[in-house]
Formats: sequence, C-alpha cells, structure tokens
Amino acid sequence: MQGKKQYFSIGISVLVLLLLLIPTAAFARTSVPETHGRYRNVILFLGDGMGDSEITLARNYFVGANGRLNMDKLPYVGASTTYSVLENNPKQPDYVTDSAASGTGWATGTKTSNGRISTTAGTDKDLPTILELAQKAGYVTGDVTTAELTDATPAVLASHVSSRSCQGPADMKSCPQDKKSAGGPGSIAEQQIDHQVNVLLGGGKQRFDQKIDFGKYTGKTVLEAAQAQGYTVVTDANGLKKVNSQHVLGLFNQSNMTTEWTGTPAQPFPGSGPQTCQENNRPSNEPALADMTSKAIELLQRNSRKGFFLQVEGASIDKQDHAANPCAQIGETIAFDKAIKVGMDYARQHPDTLVIVTADHGHTSQIIEEPTSAKQPGVFSKLITKEGSTMYVSYATAPSGESQSHTGTQVRIAAMGPEAPRVMGVINQTDIFQIIKRALSIR
Ligand SMILES: [Zn+2]
Repeated sequence: MQGKKQYFSIGISVLVLLLLLIPTAAFARTSVPETHGRYRNVILFLGDGMGDSEITLARNYFVGANGRLNMDKLPYVGASTTYSVLENNPKQPDYVTDSAASGTGWATGTKTSNGRISTTAGTDKDLPTILELAQKAGYVTGDVTTAELTDATPAVLASHVSSRSCQGPADMKSCPQDKKSAGGPGSIAEQQIDHQVNVLLGGGKQRFDQKIDFGKYTGKTVLEAAQAQGYTVVTDANGLKKVNSQHVLGLFNQSNMTTEWTGTPAQPFPGSGPQTCQENNRPSNEPALADMTSKAIELLQRNSRKGFFLQVEGASIDKQDHAANPCAQIGETIAFDKAIKVGMDYARQHPDTLVIVTADHGHTSQIIEEPTSAKQPGVFSKLITKEGSTMYVSYATAPSGESQSHTGTQVRIAAMGPEAPRVMGVINQTDIFQIIKRALSIR
C-alpha cells in the first residue's frame, strides 16, 4: 500500500508540473509577438526565384547539409502560393507567375496577370500599394535591390504601369497610356522619384539617365529631376557610406549589379565541373546587398518618427537560375542571406520590427543524383561543396543555352517579430499585404 501511494503522489506531481509547463511553452511560441503593443517597422526580404531548391543548394554548398543559413533560423515558417491570373480571364489562375504579377500580389493584396506592375488584370486600374499606404500613415519607406531599381520587384511598390518593360521615359512603347504626355503617371523610374520613396538603392542607372519628355522637368534626366525634387544621388559604395539625407537615390551600375560569385555555367551531359565557386572580381564602387541593407535601415531609422517599411530584394538568384549558373546563383543566395542577418540583428535589438523572408516564385535548379546518360534532359554541373562532398545540379526547364524558366511551386515564407505567426500554414502571396498592414496598424 505504502509503495502504491508513493507512486500515486509522484504521478500527481509530474502531472501538475506538465500542466504548468505545456501552456507556458505554447504561450511563449505563439502569443508574445502578437501582444507586443505598437508595431513600427517592417522589413520584407524578397529572394527572387528563391524556391526550396535554391535555399537547399546554398545551404549544402556554403554551410553544409546539417548547417543552417540565417534565414533558416527564423522562428515562424509557412508556405506561400505564388500563382498569378490570366489577363483576359482574371478569375482563372496562371500557375506560373513572373516577378511583376507576384510582386503586385504582396504589394497590393490583389493578384494580377504576368507583366503588370500594380495594375489590375484586364481593366488596367491602378492598385494602391503597401508602400503608398505606409507613406500615408506617416512611415518612411525604402526599396533596395541588386537588380535595376526599375525591375519588376522593386517597381511594384511605387509605380503603376501596364507592362514591366516601361522602366524609363524612353522605354514606354508598351504603355502609351501611362506616359505623362498622355495624362498617365509616367515610367517606373519617374514614378519612383515622384513617390518620394526615402531610400532607393540598386542598379539601373541607364533608366535614370533617360530624358523626361513632358511636364515640369522636360529635357532633364530622371536623375536631374530627382535632384531637383530633393534627392541626394550617390553612385559608389563610399558615397553611400557618407550620405545622410532624407531622400537618397543610390545607383551603382548601369544595369543589374555584379554577382558576388562566379563559376562555370551548367553544360549538357556530362556537365561542367567538378568545380568550386570563386569570388567575383566586382567593381569596387558596388556595395554588397548587406551594406545597402544596413545603410537603408540606418537612414530610415534616423528620419522616421513613426517607423519604416523597407523591402530588400536579392534579385540575381533568379537571373543566375535563368542562366543555369549554379555558382553565381548560390553566391547571390548567400549574399541575400547576409542581408537577412542584418535585418534579423536589427529586429533583435528593436523587437517592434517584423521581418519577413520569402520568394516570388520557384525556379529551375535541382539537386540530383550523378547524371548517367546523354539522354537525360537538361544541363548539369558538379560542385565540390565547402564540406568536401559532391553535389550535382541540374537545370532542365529549357534547352541548353536558352533562358531557364520559373516554376509554379509554393515557396517558403518565414518571419520574426510582431504578427510573425501569421505566416504559418499555407497562405497566398496576397496575404503578405494584409500581414504588413496589420503590423503597421494601417486600416
Ligand atoms: Zn525570372
């Protein structure tokens, strides 16, 4: 009897202890960020074309199969659908999106057709963007990329055109109705300046060197018009370090910025390699994405009373996936991950900051077994990873030498900070718009 009684009371104690511990753990995981009070900053990190396969390639190569990237350490993880809709039947899905339509999804909360920048499919109406709403609510804003600033992903935040190709005033062939002379808002470059986005950093100087052909700034370049509207323009890493004004336009390449790493592109069977990836000899005027991110945060924080909204794009993960160049692609993923660390470190110091990391669509690259036959579709490369193993990469959505294609898979979405648990489960990329609105208390 004595023994049984003892076991019974130990059993009760264990049960009580468990009952005390379980809800505490559950509460700590899901409830603390949501009840944190007034939220002020949102940093959205967008890896262009960064599907699960692209993340795994970079992890395996750089930190090892059992290592973890910075983005792997975010506490809340879910999946996001990426599909767009058809131009002539917007109720029907287009299962493979481009960056313009996917970006319009999270920038406006509305899905559109491929190629459109924050305008509606079929009816070509302007859709209010999260950046515009944040500005109206008193937040300062920033838009950072390694692509041209006027490329689709940065464009969706602060411009409305029917075609992503309408990047500068001389590029308006596909959007005659959007030209300023036709009563429209102008090219993407003109609109980004007219929107007075506080921090604009990236490539694509060639678009801002084009001349405006209508209105107050006729005959001036977009860059000169930007200066006339209060922007400080910087074109190199040193200039960026020193700049300290409320409106900064940083243009560090005529076109896309130079990739961080280089290597031999994938080739038909038996493929390129074995190879290890090399640091690229980048022009010294070009800052790294992590440096642009920390400078953008510094400028935004200094100039804000209420908080900021910042988007940071790692653009050339996609571009090097199109080019079937595994080393350049992995290098861009690692550079993007370093920028994410800057955001995560800031959020740890400033817990009123929501950090979201996601992608706009999946892409081609796959980790495969050793290719064994010339009949196998695609192009291949054999990489020797930092941990000394062999990794075979395949690209097989286009013939050798042609641009590889996007895929229609869901992508990872991960987050930390206020509202972060809302990324869990399977969400649409349009839900990101709602999550950011909520984090910034925008009605
Ligand atoms: Zn692409």
